Amino acid sequence: MEKLSNPKVTIEIIQKYNFAFQKRFGQNFLIDGHVIEKIIRAAEITKDDVVLEIGPGIGTMTQYLAEAAGEVFAVEIDKNLLPILAETLAEYDNVTVVNEDILKVDIAALTGGRPVKVVANLPYYITTPIIMGLFENHIPATSITVMVQKEVAERMQAGPGGKDYGALSLAVQYYAKPQILLNVPASCFMPRPNVDSAVIQLTRYEKPPVEVKDEKLMFDIIRASFNQRRKTLVNGLKNSQEIPFSKEQIEQALGMCGLSLSVRGEALTLAQFAQLANCLLYTSDAADD
Ligand code: SAM
Repeated sequence: MEKLSNPKVTIEIIQKYNFAFQKRFGQNFLIDGHVIEKIIRAAEITKDDVVLEIGPGIGTMTQYLAEAAGEVFAVEIDKNLLPILAETLAEYDNVTVVNEDILKVDIAALTGGRPVKVVANLPYYITTPIIMGLFENHIPATSITVMVQKEVAERMQAGPGGKDYGALSLAVQYYAKPQILLNVPASCFMPRPNVDSAVIQLTRYEKPPVEVKDEKLMFDIIRASFNQRRKTLVNGLKNSQEIPFSKEQIEQALGMCGLSLSVRGEALTLAQFAQLANCLLYTSDAADD
């Protein structure tokens, strides 16, 4: 069968099954073989690899993944796509399609706890929960190579100071090294999304690049400081329910880190947030003594 990346073949199969695109599932299928080839090449997939594909759709990228990888697990929420996938993937015996919600499925159980490469054209409406779920649930994902909304890719890769820098940048960069690989125009999808897209690769660190005694506290500090972006860090933190420290303790911790009392959260690097979390813990230990 000719590949689905040929738009004519995609249209034929969609008509054959009378498939109705579901906006609520973020269904924009790829119809550009060059983009798919670039994604597969960037992910450096070999026959030794187990690949997790999130949302195979009608199987367009899955066909390429099946040819490149040893084994592919494709998790698709929309049961209407199952008969289509049965046909489009019929000639591959190394693909397992699982009709589940990616936010609920036990990935480690599915893949037998083996290291996986995640490759996907993600449903954009749940990009952040999917990525953070992969990191926080400690899925053995060595790399994540995914199509996302361009603006979200830019936020993931942003450094301190700019408008794109925020809680998502820091959360992603705590776990992985991000690299935007290519921008993808709306014309590469059917139907065309009304946002621009980009492929980003997140290469998982074996251990985080900063040492932090209490991860949750660091992320609470990060969230609190970006929730109130225009405020100084001291005011952002002292007004937050999540941060159980007094204004004096916050000021003392900033001093210990060599930071000005008027600094804003958006100026801090990941290393400085980690240091601030460690110093705040120290001020509470010192108060307990
Ligand atoms: N991979 C296909 C392609 O590139 O042509 C389809 C990509 S489309 C942007 C996103 C896919 O994710 C759709 O097939 C959609 O049904 C599926 N999806 C949406 N939400 C999902 C979820 N919670 N769990 C698993 N799949 C989901």
